Amino acid sequence: MPNRVVINIMDGGFLPRSLAGRPAVEWVLDYAGSIVPKKDIAFIGSSGGGIPGFPYTRMESATAACLIAALRELSQGYDNLVYVFGDSPFLDAGLTARMLENHAKYYAHYTFADGYPEGLAPEILAARTLPALAALCQDGPPLDRETLFALIQKDINAFDLETELSPRDLRILRASLTCGTKRGHLLCERTAESLPQGQPPASEAVLSLLEKTPEVLRTLPAFIGVQITEGCPQSCLSCPYPLFGNVGGSRRMAPGDFDLIARKAADFCGDAVIGVSLWGEPSFHPEFTRLAKSVADRPALSLLVETSGIGWKDEVVRECAAMLGPRLTWVVSLDAAGPQQYAMLRGAGWEEARARAEMLIAEFPGTAYVQALRMAENEETLESFYRAWKEKTPRLIIQKYDWFCGFLPQRKVTDLSPLDRFPCRHLRRDLCVLLDGSVPLCREDLHKSTLLGNLIADDIQTIWEKGGGFYRQHLCANHTGICGNCDEYYTWNF
Ligand code: SF4
Repeated sequence: MPNRVVINIMDGGFLPRSLAGRPAVEWVLDYAGSIVPKKDIAFIGSSGGGIPGFPYTRMESATAACLIAALRELSQGYDNLVYVFGDSPFLDAGLTARMLENHAKYYAHYTFADGYPEGLAPEILAARTLPALAALCQDGPPLDRETLFALIQKDINAFDLETELSPRDLRILRASLTCGTKRGHLLCERTAESLPQGQPPASEAVLSLLEKTPEVLRTLPAFIGVQITEGCPQSCLSCPYPLFGNVGGSRRMAPGDFDLIARKAADFCGDAVIGVSLWGEPSFHPEFTRLAKSVADRPALSLLVETSGIGWKDEVVRECAAMLGPRLTWVVSLDAAGPQQYAMLRGAGWEEARARAEMLIAEFPGTAYVQALRMAENEETLESFYRAWKEKTPRLIIQKYDWFCGFLPQRKVTDLSPLDRFPCRHLRRDLCVLLDGSVPLCREDLHKSTLLGNLIADDIQTIWEKGGGFYRQHLCANHTGICGNCDEYYTWNF
């Protein structure tokens, strides 16, 4: 049963990145060479060039259909494809051998590993599956690392799947052992330094490292939440801002300052999501389009707009969407199933907010979400909210209530906190920036009790390293100050 290893190098942007003095792709070639003879290794990608000495298929465009067409071409004369990404230096040959054995034994169409961090295991695809996948390519899904699984999911009962379960489910860590981003590359470098030298990577050793040395997981910020305006049209029951901020204020962040923050984020983090809704309503910024352009000009950045839905002009929304495409995500916070409850929870504006949510869902169905904050006051109507909006979009967010470390009354209806506390995910992945550029410890730090610096005036790396000191305190189970009363440490932004 001949197998072929197909290595996707995507746009090849990661190729100059090295680990322990060797290009990351050479690690993948070592792995592939331990699975199949050299003649059975091939590369695909979207860039102009491949890897000398190996066949290379260039995908015409970044679509699922082009990926499947390339895989069909490369599968000629083979029974199975072992599909991996070229920026994954810790692919485990032993784990792959186990997966191949089960794939053959159970005559599977598709075999994948579940519960492992990204970058340790391949996907295995029987060549006979590809015509069926080609038929599922209409209307996407997008071309990314999940494309094969997303296609299979479209008609999951039509395929025989084999799953290799991780001994411990570590997806929860959101650790990506891939060199395609600066963040992932840094984690790979730390992992390479800590593993035994001169031995092929073993997933068990990597899992153990990630579990036992969580300090390696704090790499670079993934989410930067920025306050761009002072004013807000509402005084929501669940929001602390009316109690400590200035909802009637008119100050806003200068576009030049926002551009500087975006530049620092892009330079330091590589990719990151920039949120513009830390406090205040982003639609109130009179030059919102200029801010969006600062993000659009940096291809590795994305923009998140969490909004009441009030105050937007159609042309601003459409211009920003045209600039950013799928890199712009909208979240409209409604909280209520109907106008009366909306008025009680949020204030005036139901009709405008509902209409804006419907417009965004209709025009940007892949990137617009409707959100409700779950709390005692709307618990009884949350199901009707969910059912009503589910008919219009699958993109619904039910967010947990945040009592801001005791600043607000406790309105939560259920306790979602883990049995064992772990270091704060926001300290690990986020930065928050207020209107004047100052960076508090986190979004919960309403009174700026701990300032990490000023992102307009200071070096971003210095600010990030200062936050690392607090993360290390958490590693020692030291949750002093507001952290002691916080139940947001286990939530994610991105
Ligand atoms: S534990 Fe809570 S208060 Fe402390 S840094 Fe994390 S989010 Fe902020």
